[in-house]
Amino acid sequence: MNEEYGEKRLMLSPEGEFKFLCHNELSCFNVCCADVNIFLTPYDVLRMKKAMGLSSGEFLKDYTIPLLGDEGLPLVVLKMREDENKQCPFVTPCGCEIYEDRPWACRMYPLFPASSEKEEFLMGKKLSCLGFKEEKQWTIDEWKKAQGIEIYDIMNESYKEITHHDYFLKANKLDPGRSKLLYTACYDLDEFKKFLFETRFFDIYDVEREIIERVKEDGEELLSFGYRWVRFNLFGEDTLRLKDKVFDKVLQAKRKF
Ligand code: SF4
Ligand code: SF4
Repeated sequence: MNEEYGEKRLMLSPEGEFKFLCHNELSCFNVCCADVNIFLTPYDVLRMKKAMGLSSGEFLKDYTIPLLGDEGLPLVVLKMREDENKQCPFVTPCGCEIYEDRPWACRMYPLFPASSEKEEFLMGKKLSCLGFKEEKQWTIDEWKKAQGIEIYDIMNESYKEITHHDYFLKANKLDPGRSKLLYTACYDLDEFKKFLFETRFFDIYDVEREIIERVKEDGEELLSFGYRWVRFNLFGEDTLRLKDKVFDKVLQAKRKF
């Protein structure tokens, strides 16, 4: 057990159980929604910008801080208010303004993944959090179900295939141009959509008409297509293919040299 900063951390196995309940009758209600580092996944941003009725560009500009990881991977952190308490911009006296679309980290609290490989969780038991004094008992699966985590896990797992790609294990680093490409295709989805539909993209790449329609209408499909584009463009995977006529032209051009 590790105790620091007024917080105890306990390791929970996948079968582990814990007692916790957060509700608005507790005197600590809302105090945890301040001065906290929340890293947002692309799916978090998609849900939050929709909830706010903003474009991805507006949301990213107003509510996030962009950072760069060691490998050149973009990191997106939720920007707290610049007031004394550094409150989350979405907290209200009645709770989270975007509760139905709150990010993965807020849903999972008080659980944190122990590592990116193992299915174990750490439970951050903050002494100021009265939810731990409640009697409601959960398994990890019950907690995830109650928090609507499944779709987040599915979308985040696809993003993890990018951020944990072999490319990075071989000590490669993204240059600024590639880093921007990844950021646009995964986080700035309205900009990515413009790139797809306001250029000759679908004249060049062989994508089924049905998929094009879904990408146009549905944010989750657009994000999944963004992941495909990143894997094709950055890692050379066969997640997309050129149209035959374009491919032939590329071959002819290569033969001339
Ligand atoms: S119970 Fe914990 S999570 Fe819920 S409002 Fe209080 S401090 Fe926050
Ligand atoms: S997004 Fe909602 S749940 Fe998460 S810190 Fe902000 S107010 Fe709290």
